[in-house]
Amino acid sequence: MSRVSPFLRTRPFRHGARRACRAALVFALLSSTWGWSGPASQKSLRIFFVDVEGGQATLFVTPQQHSLLIDTGWPGNNGRDADRIVAVAHKAGINKIDDVLITHFHNDHVGGLPQLVARIPVGTVIDHGDNRESTDAPTVQVWQAYQELLATKKFKRLTVKPGDSLPIDGLQATVISSDGAVIDHPLPGAGQENASCKNAEQFPADQTENRRSLGTLITFGKLRILDLGDLTRDEEMELVCPINKLGAIDIYIVSHHGWYQSNSPAFLNAIAPRVAIMDNGAKKGGTPSAWDIIEKSPRLENLWQLHFSEEGGTAHNVAPEFIANPEGPDAANYLELTAWPDGSFEVFNSRTQRAKRYPSH
Ligand SMILES: [Zn+2]
Repeated sequence: MSRVSPFLRTRPFRHGARRACRAALVFALLSSTWGWSGPASQKSLRIFFVDVEGGQATLFVTPQQHSLLIDTGWPGNNGRDADRIVAVAHKAGINKIDDVLITHFHNDHVGGLPQLVARIPVGTVIDHGDNRESTDAPTVQVWQAYQELLATKKFKRLTVKPGDSLPIDGLQATVISSDGAVIDHPLPGAGQENASCKNAEQFPADQTENRRSLGTLITFGKLRILDLGDLTRDEEMELVCPINKLGAIDIYIVSHHGWYQSNSPAFLNAIAPRVAIMDNGAKKGGTPSAWDIIEKSPRLENLWQLHFSEEGGTAHNVAPEFIANPEGPDAANYLELTAWPDGSFEVFNSRTQRAKRYPSH
């Protein structure tokens, strides 16, 4: 069967009747070609992948307009990353961030928090507990800044452990990893033996905050979304070997910006994502060996990248339409994923103004 371009020619409308109208039109045009179930009547979850130049900042906005921000990007730069986060929050129609989840206390994740709190109200900050890396000066500095913010009592603090559920209206969020520990039993429906563990490489225990990452599995209707922050390969193995405690994932927010210290083959074979979204920078993340492992994972339909990876060169970058920020001056383009409870979703590239739809399986 020949396939037409999966990219829509125009930007989908985002709100109310105009959106429903456009969705109905798009459905009529594309459903026969793509078999998309067209859930125009269902309410959607929106996920914005903010470009913070190789850090992380991922904003979830539920149909109930509850917001969860995973990480806050870098400190400094006159509040560049906080400004970018606030811009997408306003785009999503929110003036407050209900929950900010800090995966770990490295400065590309928690560094932007003081600037964010200065710009937009924050309800609760969720973390893995205290900083465990006292030998790294930038980490100590951002941890100190976090202590000072906590003392202002501008927001609540919630510390969680594996197995906990996060109180977020409109989606289910289960803590998978926190402070170096992971869930001790499989999630419902998971627990199968992982054939990729046989003869798999073993990795020494990481000594940094990365392995302390607060990781979550977010379930929205039929859709399963995994974000493990910068969780390292040694911890990944505990999650998927000898049995796969996680099961198959639909959307994988690529760990550690696509660096090789995360993204082991046994892990990617176990979670087998349909779509992976990598928050790399031009010069950070997107290691060719990790890129290959993700690209070769068994169910992958597409990998999307926030940046062209200079290290990846021509052989280890996806096609331009799947990259938000190609080579050249940075334009802070973002990716946006819209998900429906029936398991269908689309990924929108703010640079190309086009979206690709993925029907439910
Ligand atoms: Zn990081």
